[in-house]
Amino acid sequence: MKLIMLGAPGAGKGTQAKKIAAKYGIPHISTGDIFRENIKGNTQLGLKAKGYMDQGLLVPDELVLELIMDRFKAPDCKDGYVLDGFPRTIPQAKALDEALEKNNDRVEYAIDVDVADQVIINRMAGRRACLNCGRTYHVDTLKSKVEGICDYCNTELVLRDDDKPETVKKRLEVYHEQTQPLLDYYRKKGILHSVDGTGDIDKIYDEIIHILKA
Ligand code: ADP
Ligand code: ADP
Ligand code: ZN
Repeated sequence: MKLIMLGAPGAGKGTQAKKIAAKYGIPHISTGDIFRENIKGNTQLGLKAKGYMDQGLLVPDELVLELIMDRFKAPDCKDGYVLDGFPRTIPQAKALDEALEKNNDRVEYAIDVDVADQVIINRMAGRRACLNCGRTYHVDTLKSKVEGICDYCNTELVLRDDDKPETVKKRLEVYHEQTQPLLDYYRKKGILHSVDGTGDIDKIYDEIIHILKA
């Protein structure tokens, strides 16, 4: 199964993608996580991406495409994947479709997690991220068992540099301009499903699973 999670920054794509990936035994691929790993490891790719990310801007398509096409070659992708944070622009979506079409393959579901901007702004300030395993927590709605420490890998949790309120505003602008047009793109292909991203995490998850089974 190949599916895409769409939605604004902080809509809950990663939270849901992790659960879906675990249920279906397929990898959760987050381009943002891959960039952050590269930044931590001081790689060339990380250095190139960091400037854009810190400003709340998108990393150029060529860089993202190089990285993701390489990731698709890994053996764990053979039964599908959950894409989180990719594609984010129309050229990225077209490049993905073209790459899959070469193998007579396609994306089956595009799940839009819908959350209003104001809710996002409130959520992001409370997001805490594990830069080791990619899990995210929230200081009010999804606390780790021990404050400030990842439940799964014991790494210290951080407020991401790009989760500061000014940067979140910029990211939302960029989302509306460059990523939201993807909703129409996938709607026209007949694979778009929207879920309300506010409310209980498990309820949203159930709704998504229902869509995937239908
Ligand atoms: P969030 O989960 O809050 O939406 P991500 O972790 O997906 O954020 O992305 C963080 C940043 O990484 C983005 O703001 C952008 O700079 C960069 N990035 C991630 N994926 C892409 C992509 N597909 N295209 C361009 N930039 C990307
Ligand atoms: P995205 O990957 O779309 O950027 P995340 O999955 O990282 O979003 O979620 C953003 C923040 O909101 C995190 O702190 C997460 O714990 C929290 N969160 C996710 N889903 C919900 C929800 N349904 N209700 C409240 N908070 C949520
Ligand atoms: Zn962790």
